[in-house]
Order: sequence, then structure tokens, then C-alpha cells
Amino acid sequence: MTSPSPAADAESVRALFVDRFGRPPEVIASAPGRVNLIGEHTDYNGGEVLPIAIARRTWVAAGRREGDREPTLRAVSATHPSMGTSALRTPTRSGDWWDYLTGVAAPLVTAGESYTSLDLAVTSDVPAGAGLSSSAALEVATALAVAGVLGVPLPLEEAAMTAWRAETGFVGVACGIMDQYASALGRAGEALHLECDTARYDYAPFADTLLIFDTAIPRSLRTSHYNERRAECDEALRLLRERWPALPSLAAAEPEQVLEARLPDPLDRRALHVSRETRRVRDAVAALRAGGHISRELLVGSHESLRDLYECSRPELDWVVERSITLPGVRGARLTGAGWGGCAIVVGEEGALRDAAPVLAREYEARFALVPRLWLSSASSGARVEEM
Ligand code: ADP
Ligand code: MG
Repeated sequence: MTSPSPAADAESVRALFVDRFGRPPEVIASAPGRVNLIGEHTDYNGGEVLPIAIARRTWVAAGRREGDREPTLRAVSATHPSMGTSALRTPTRSGDWWDYLTGVAAPLVTAGESYTSLDLAVTSDVPAGAGLSSSAALEVATALAVAGVLGVPLPLEEAAMTAWRAETGFVGVACGIMDQYASALGRAGEALHLECDTARYDYAPFADTLLIFDTAIPRSLRTSHYNERRAECDEALRLLRERWPALPSLAAAEPEQVLEARLPDPLDRRALHVSRETRRVRDAVAALRAGGHISRELLVGSHESLRDLYECSRPELDWVVERSITLPGVRGARLTGAGWGGCAIVVGEEGALRDAAPVLAREYEARFALVPRLWLSSASSGARVEEM
């Protein structure tokens, strides 16, 4: 399994804070990364998702600082050399990593009318840029830590929304609410069943282990298509509404309606994926609640739909899915996240996945000349304040 990972826990972040700021922090909070079990490309189509919080976390230590004329944020991270500084009352985007912290902290400081300066330290073992949402973990942990030092009550839903507003409004990444909700509200042994347009959520028991397989495909090969898909979905919904004006979202369309509408290719395939995928989420939740598992049919069905209808897979991801399901004790596998690279999940029992990991890693590297990263995880706890 991939590691060694950087030290990331309450002690490491406390030590970093003391080392860089010369006094102990007042609050430490942590928040996990996430992975989506099923429900891909449904979030921006009014559909449902089923993420879990993973066993990798980001830790933020916070303390107030007196004496500045203008409230200022200073931030350090164990994984980034430079100390970030930004004004909290009139924040501007730096394009650097501490924007995630500024975007969260500035509105909390202004809303609380507490014009204090803040020092923040970060440690994390969530791999950044792998699609496990290190950005949401960073934002959510920051929200809890900053609210803690300011004495502002911040329920977890509010922490998620503060984090989401920072990412979309301040950092400028057009993402749905899934990542921040999963990081804030994930629970050990449970998956979060989230309706993305209403933010209604509930939980389903999830006791399986996952092997998270990062394909290590460079990011430069992964961009561009996402906006194209979003535009295709908008157009598909527009055409469906010519016939069914009351249709609230693309995910709300029944598969039969999509087929009946005879949309032009590829809009018909995009719409069919979204419609069926949201129903697969419901089937998965029903199976988990009945004491069962998410079946191979659902997992591989989701993958094949992403491959053939949504066209967001790649040969590397297809290989991971096809190869892993031939291994003993593997229940199913699929790409997770937006696709075109990033991660796949392999689902099954822990012992089987421990055995599968080195086989998959070795064969993948030999075949694609890429060194994958693999992590075992189960559904873990969401964000929390560690110490006050
Ligand atoms: P993902 O959320 O999939 O990991 P993103 O591009 O959304 O990828 O977020 C990664 C970015 O978040 C990093 O480039 C960095 O700016 C910031 N980030 C995440 N974790 C940390 C950390 N521990 N310290 C500093 N910055 C971090
Ligand atoms: Mg992110």
C-alpha cells in the first residue's frame, strides 16, 4: 500500500503552530477527504450521490493574534514552504494555496464582527489533487477551527456551506456541494446519501472496505471535457423541457422519458447516464439499508455507463475495473470522481483487498508505465473540533 504519508494528527499540527508562531494554538479541528461510492456526474444535474469520508484527514490549528491595525491571516502548511498572508476584511485572491483558508476565514471574521487577526497551521495526509478532495478537507477543518477561536457556533451543515462558498465564490472552482458535505458530515461505518439540489441528506450503513486506486494520470490530460459535459446536460434538459416543461432537473427524467424523447447523439447518452445513475444511487441505498452490499451489477454498471454513455473513462481506469473484478473477494469496482483519470475504487472485504493491491499495482505499472498510489479505507468520521 502507498505510504509513507506525512505526519498528520493533532500533535503534528500543534507542533507546527508552536514552531512557526511561537505560542500554542487555541483550537485544533480536523476534516477528512472523501470518495464517492456511486452517483457520478449527477451532482450538477439535480441528482443524488453517495460519498463516504475516508480515513485520511487534514488538521488545522488556529489562534488569534492581537496588535495588527488590520485583521490579517497568516497561514503555514507542513506540505508547502511559503507562509501565506492575506487581509481578512478586504480579502483578495492570491492564486496560492492559502486562498482556501482566506475564503473560509474572511466571512467568519466579518460576520462575527470580531476584527481579530488569525494564525493557522495545516498538516494533512489527504493527497492533494488526487480527487480525494483535499481542498474540501482543508476548507471544512479551517471553518471549524476559525469558528472555534472566534466563539461562533457553526453547525456542520453551515461549515459545509461556508466551505463550499469559499471554493466556488473565492477560490473560483465550480463544484457541487458533495465534497464539503461529505467531509463535514461523513460518519464512521456509514455512507452519506445526499440530494445535491436540496442538500437533504440521510445515511446508509456501509461496512465494506475500499481500495482507492489513483491512476496517476497527469492532471493536464484530465481537464477540458468537464465543462463540455455540463453544457451537454444543460442542452439535454432544455430539449426535454420542450416536451415536459415541469421537469425539475435532468436527473428527475425517467430513463423511459429520455428514450422516448429521441434526443440527438450524444445528448441522448449523456441524459440516459444521468437518469439511470441517480436511480442506481437509490438502489444502492436500498440494498445497504436492507443489510446487503452495493452489488457488482450496480458498481460495474455505473462504470460502464460512465465509459460508454458519459465517455469520461480512460483505458487505465477500464483496466483497473476489469482486472480487479477477476480477483478473489472483490465485489465490484468503478471509476470515481469526474473521470478522465483520477481514482477508481475497488470494493470488497479487507483481506481480499490487501491481497489484490500489490497485484493490481504491479500489473498496472508494467502495462501503463505509471506508478499508481493505493490506499485502503473504510467509511470514517467527518469533521470535528479536536481540542478547545
Ligand atoms: P483535490 O481537492 O482533489 O485534492 P484540488 O485541486 O481541488 O484537488 O485541491 C488541491 C489544492 O488544495 C492544492 O493544490 C492546495 O492548493 C490546496 N491544499 C490541499 N491540501 C493542502 C495542504 N495540506 N496544505 C496546503 N494546501 C493544501
Ligand atoms: Mg478539490
